[in-house]
Amino acid sequence: MDKIEHIGIAVKDLEKSNKLFASLFGETHYKTEEVVSEGVKTSFFKTGLNKIELLQATNPKSPIARFIERKGEGIHHIAFAVKDIKSEIIRLQKEGFTVLNEVPKKGADNKLVAFLHPKTTNGVLIELCQEIE
Ligand code: ZN
Repeated sequence: MDKIEHIGIAVKDLEKSNKLFASLFGETHYKTEEVVSEGVKTSFFKTGLNKIELLQATNPKSPIARFIERKGEGIHHIAFAVKDIKSEIIRLQKEGFTVLNEVPKKGADNKLVAFLHPKTTNGVLIELCQEIE
């Protein structure tokens, strides 16, 4: 696994949170994107070398809606960059981690993504992401 690619934060109201984080970072988000298959609307911020993703549910069945229901707003996942997501998935399964989607799917920001179930990672939802060339 490589560096932390971004940190995902679940929010109730993307527009409000875009303003909040813009004043926190001193810079507005550089893009927004809807991932229809996941039921989320996202926006991305850069702070120095770091990237923050805000996620808002677009329907009540979205994983983000369920997360906020259970835990409230806050850090939702940590994403790590990987060079070869397929071999990384196989490696992690061999190590005993539960991969939520064995076939990488298209996520926001031009990435192939896969998630590890938090029950196998001390409660932290881990996202693997590989840049789509
Ligand atoms: Zn993410």
